[in-house]
Amino acid sequence: MFKKILIANRGEIACRVIKTARRMGIATVAVYSDADRDALHVEMADEAVHIGPAAASESYLVGDKIIDACKQTGAQAVHPGYGFLSERASFCEALEAEGIVFIGPKPKAIRAMGDKIESKKFANDADVSTVPGFIGVIEDGDHAEAISDEIGYPVMIKASAGGGGKGMRIAHSRSEVREGFDRARSEARNSFGDERVFIEKFIVEPRHIEIQVLADAHGNCIHLGERECSIQRRNQKVIEEAPSPFLDEKTRQAMGAQAVALAQAVDYQSAGTVEFIVDSEKNFYFLEMNTRLQVEHPVTELVTGIDLVEQMIRVAAGERLALKQDDVRMTGWAVESRLYAEDPYRNFLPSIGRLTRYRPVPEGRQGEVIVRNDTGVFEGAEISMFYDPMIAKLCTFAPTRAGAIEAMGEALDGFVVDGIEHNIPFLASLMRHPRWRDGRLTTGFIAEEYPDGFASQRPGPEEQAVLAAVALTAELLRKDRLDRFSDRLAPHEGALRRDWIVRLDDDYVEVSVDDGMASIPFEADMSIDGKRLTVTTDFRPGDAVWRGRIGNLAVTAQTRPVVNGLRVDWQGFSTVARALTPRLAELDRLMPVKVPPDTSKMLLCPMPGLVVSIAVAEGQAVKAGETLAVVEAMKMENVLRAERDATVASIKAEPGESLSVDAVIMEFE
Ligand code: ADP
Ligand code: ADP
Ligand code: MG
Repeated sequence: MFKKILIANRGEIACRVIKTARRMGIATVAVYSDADRDALHVEMADEAVHIGPAAASESYLVGDKIIDACKQTGAQAVHPGYGFLSERASFCEALEAEGIVFIGPKPKAIRAMGDKIESKKFANDADVSTVPGFIGVIEDGDHAEAISDEIGYPVMIKASAGGGGKGMRIAHSRSEVREGFDRARSEARNSFGDERVFIEKFIVEPRHIEIQVLADAHGNCIHLGERECSIQRRNQKVIEEAPSPFLDEKTRQAMGAQAVALAQAVDYQSAGTVEFIVDSEKNFYFLEMNTRLQVEHPVTELVTGIDLVEQMIRVAAGERLALKQDDVRMTGWAVESRLYAEDPYRNFLPSIGRLTRYRPVPEGRQGEVIVRNDTGVFEGAEISMFYDPMIAKLCTFAPTRAGAIEAMGEALDGFVVDGIEHNIPFLASLMRHPRWRDGRLTTGFIAEEYPDGFASQRPGPEEQAVLAAVALTAELLRKDRLDRFSDRLAPHEGALRRDWIVRLDDDYVEVSVDDGMASIPFEADMSIDGKRLTVTTDFRPGDAVWRGRIGNLAVTAQTRPVVNGLRVDWQGFSTVARALTPRLAELDRLMPVKVPPDTSKMLLCPMPGLVVSIAVAEGQAVKAGETLAVVEAMKMENVLRAERDATVASIKAEPGESLSVDAVIMEFE
């Protein structure tokens, strides 16, 4: 076994690899860029080597710097994590030439599977079912149209070198092919430096289900069952689970067998993932193979009890797999949520900055539930613009799917992140979604269920009762604390005022509190909107998380002070609450409402980005759906279309200009 390994990565995955290495008694070396001097992975590792400037292309992506760091520290092997150098065959070869072991597959397998066109050919030859389509490079727009007509619509236009959901476009009819082809090609060129594009059938009502494989260097290969990753936004995974609520044992075995056959055909060793797209009839088609540890691997670890990083390290050290296919059992259910630094209310715009508060929920087992949080950040750390904006991967495990979802909802409600925008409200709202709870998924789920993006939903009467109770108890306890602090003559003996109106955004909820004291823990009977409830909580003023019971519901919510009130977040609802006396509420209702400016006659830039092109001219009449402009952000080209028929009055931006969010691009008459 190795004595020392280097982790050529950063963030949560570097920390995760270090944890296992440490448990195995292997010393660890971290590498870090200028931006990561104070990063968690650096602190966790036994040693750390600085490898250059913040830009990944000058640090984490430079193989020679990694090799130098190995030589300098005597690391015998390198774990690449995911992203960065994890799928670069040339990097494995360079390591091998120096006598350093790459903890992953051999260059041959990486090459064979690294390119989507090539890997599809390979899969075909290994009798793996692939998506029908044209397995070759598309030359130009005419070629793209001809091939698409032949395949039949809808089609998927894809970059052969693609990854991370980039360089991919659906065309539902011939008229969309040319633009899709141009966009996919230019994204491919910009993101991957390789503009080869191919076209395959778009599988309708698709589910993304992937098989985890594990192989050693002695020809043994097994699979560890599936993960379903159908909850995606723009072809990028958001929520993953294991097992899949859709597969039956027969399909699972068939997919597992094909995944193993493909892995064996490329002499695969280490952990890898064979991704399939599955249609509503349970037909499955090979998509691609990822020759690395996958972001969502923890859900497999939770249901199988197998540490994939440990297996990768053992295989790399030449050990035989100690597991046989029959030893692999999936028990219980695991769900993973990817917590990203992005603003769900503003089209998931990336958000960067300092984590002024970062209080994850406690990890570990409680009864039958396990909570696991893979993260690379801490309170006070910075989410920088240089790398993936992932804050953490929160996983829950329970005996049943419903239990795991319930636990995830609660964990999200108790997970406190401040200082940057993040997608917790969106994830929390997803956990309540009936279609998700029923497991009726397709990769179109988010686009279908949130067609206009995510907006905090207006709570119904039952949810309002919860929000009002949280806000009122927090406010009563705060007032009581203030009274005691200020050393004033006690204005009351701790007895609670009876009648309140809790304003929740624009709604007024009547609450009357029975006799009670503002003591900690708090307990009082109330009637909220006429409904009788007992409310108990151990909340203390200043706590971010409110835990307690409201009626027969266990509630975990978050409160944050805002001007003249309190923001309450719970299950994706976010509302500004104010506890008012009846007289104040009466006056409050008379206050004029501020009208937001009318932006309906403008095209606003939805994200900070670079104007690639403006497709219309002043005075031009446009039809709904017509392209108005193209804006590039985060290496994605976003086509901005007319929402309705209109005439362009004036154009306020030009190609090449970089715009901030909500900058006016054009105005309509
Ligand atoms: P997973 O299935 O593990 O989520 P993804 O395809 O979403 O895999 O990619 C995981 C990580 O690797 C992401 O951070 C993504 O940005 C990065 N990545 C994947 N493929 C590429 C690629 N070809 N080029 C650059 N980054 C990539
Ligand atoms: P990446 O390398 O970016 O992960 P994939 O080929 O794995 O690219 O595709 C990413 C996602 O795009 C899939 O999970 C799926 O949601 C969608 N997708 C890809 N190809 C198809 C297809 N032919 N039909 C339907 N959906 C597809
Ligand atoms: Mg993929």
